[in-house]
Amino acid sequence: MRLKTKDKVLVLSGKDKGKRAEILKRVDDEHFIVAKVNVVKRHQKPKQNEQGGIVEKESPMHQSKLMLVCGKCDSATSPKAQILKDGTKARVCRNCNEMID
Ligand SMILES: [Zn+2]
Repeated sequence: MRLKTKDKVLVLSGKDKGKRAEILKRVDDEHFIVAKVNVVKRHQKPKQNEQGGIVEKESPMHQSKLMLVCGKCDSATSPKAQILKDGTKARVCRNCNEMID
């Protein structure tokens, strides 16, 4: 099931395992930038109006390392899909059966 921008997710592996954070950006179908997760330090050369130095930047996370957190019951879940009356798909929490979006 697809994750989306602004979803709350639980990190399942890597150095930020166990953290909960919000998806900031979708990079491609399988990779997402998650706030303050998988942060890498990069050296940046000084530019005209910017100081050089070390900048911290999030690296994309693969979706298999992320699990959606339900906003209603606050548990990590792999949601099931439900087709709504108007034909659109919604994600439903397996724990509390509430619609996530
Ligand atoms: Zn729930």
